[in-house]
Amino acid sequence: MSDLRRLEERARDARRPHAGADDGLVVCDNLVRVYRTDEVEVQALQGLDLVVEEGECMALVGASGSGKSTLLSILSGLDLPTAGRARVAGHDLLALRRRERLGYRRHTVGFVWQQTGRNLLPYLTALENVALPMKYVRVPRRKRAARAAELLDVLGVAYCRDRRPAELSGGEQQRVAVAVATANAPRVLLADEPTGELDTASGEEVFAALRRANEELGATVLVVTHDPLVSEQVRRTVRIRDGRTSTETLRGPGGGGAEEYTVLDRAGRLQLPRDHVERYGLRGRVRLTAEPDHVGVWPDRAHDSDPSA
Ligand code: ADP
Ligand code: MG
Repeated sequence: MSDLRRLEERARDARRPHAGADDGLVVCDNLVRVYRTDEVEVQALQGLDLVVEEGECMALVGASGSGKSTLLSILSGLDLPTAGRARVAGHDLLALRRRERLGYRRHTVGFVWQQTGRNLLPYLTALENVALPMKYVRVPRRKRAARAAELLDVLGVAYCRDRRPAELSGGEQQRVAVAVATANAPRVLLADEPTGELDTASGEEVFAALRRANEELGATVLVVTHDPLVSEQVRRTVRIRDGRTSTETLRGPGGGGAEEYTVLDRAGRLQLPRDHVERYGLRGRVRLTAEPDHVGVWPDRAHDSDPSA
């Protein structure tokens, strides 16, 4: 890479609201995922950029079909992108060999699915479910049981330890699922609509468990959600639109003072939030003004009044 290019990249990264060049724990750069089925081609991710710093607990939102689950499958090591770059805790997800991929999935990431039934084995108790991932990485039996009990305790479901999934409520199952996902102390915890099938109160308990995984177990948490209760409680919410990250909302402590950000891509394109576009009547050509420390975007009134436009 030329020095100029490097400087440009550094400047671009410095402008991002929440990025430090390449040192994020999760770094997605121009990620593309195309699904081909017979004649049809679906572009699920269309050049997505995302940086998540170690220790963050952030929400990912977006309409159905916008590419959220596709992104999470890639980050979990289940799926491969068609192009672009994805790096998690120093692992290049496009370059992992089979054995490394397995190690990555067992040690580096934990996953919680929306469907409660998909997270737990029905014939094992909660404690046995949590101990299982540790067995795969050869943690001695006694240590497994001790850590499993401790995790269930931290996540508020110690009383469920000897019950099988069928004897647990949906919310309890999802909290046990968080314990399973954090059993091997992953750096990153991914959750795809984990509260989607739950009522509000159970959803809150599951989100509290995710937050504990973040604050007390040290996992960086990325949660896909439609639930405003969740997205309002995290500091950063990233919105995916058409397979790209579009806007970010940052909230101060206590949930107040939300600030909107949008992502500037490599070519200098940025997507304005829809409500801004409507509120200021922006369409077609817009007028730009260069101010000392910012750029102004104005509706093109001349253009609006031009009958030939
Ligand atoms: P979200 O989770 O945001 O609802 P997805 O990532 O599941 O979105 O899907 C993004 C797009 O990719 C959708 O148009 C979906 O139909 C398509 N898609 C997802 N998985 C597949 C697949 N295995 N084969 C073909 N198309 C898929
Ligand atoms: Mg999905």
